[in-house]
Amino acid sequence: MQLVFATNNQNKIKEVQALIPSHIKLLSLKDIGCFEEVPEIQFTIKCNAIQKAEYIKEHYGIDCFADDTGLEVEALDGEPGVFSARYAGEQRDASDNMNKLLNELQDKPNRNAQFKTVIALHLNDTLHTFKGICKGEITTAKKGDSGFGYDPIFKPKGYNLTFAEMELSLKNKIGHRGKAVAKLINFLSSI
Ligand code: IMP
Repeated sequence: MQLVFATNNQNKIKEVQALIPSHIKLLSLKDIGCFEEVPEIQFTIKCNAIQKAEYIKEHYGIDCFADDTGLEVEALDGEPGVFSARYAGEQRDASDNMNKLLNELQDKPNRNAQFKTVIALHLNDTLHTFKGICKGEITTAKKGDSGFGYDPIFKPKGYNLTFAEMELSLKNKIGHRGKAVAKLINFLSSI
């Protein structure tokens, strides 16, 4: 079975490929000849995931799944949330985004935050969504060089390591995307 994961983010593909059973071959957007930027201009994480999956179905006629992720920080009323990628500007730079967040939280004692991933699956003209949440806190400095995005400043609850200091297998086991993918796999194996 082949399944298109509507992303060209190699980090996401690596994470999800490690979770998907080997009989499912994951194809990226590049693999289906999609090189344009897929729109994600909605106001919720769920709507963005749906928009990406529907765009691929509409323009390429292929069933697929897409994920959208946001980091929701309690002391910032859930920001950056759906705007996580462009938090520090249109350049979508991970380092700039982390610096801005560390700056915003400088005087705030509450550093609780959560990653939220929603996966939207477009299959046989039906849309299904799967959510994964990972609670934790924002550190006061960047630590570790694995992973991507905000990983160096996010410490999941119950661990004394940031995501960027962990093995991928541990991040996948306890992380937001891993939880959403587990629900996706469960669904795929039930049909
Ligand atoms: P998107 O889902 O690709 O739109 O990601 C939104 C923002 O969250 C981007 O800045 C990503 O780098 C960041 N992001 C997405 N997933 C993760 C993750 O697993 N860890 C850290 N940052 C992430």
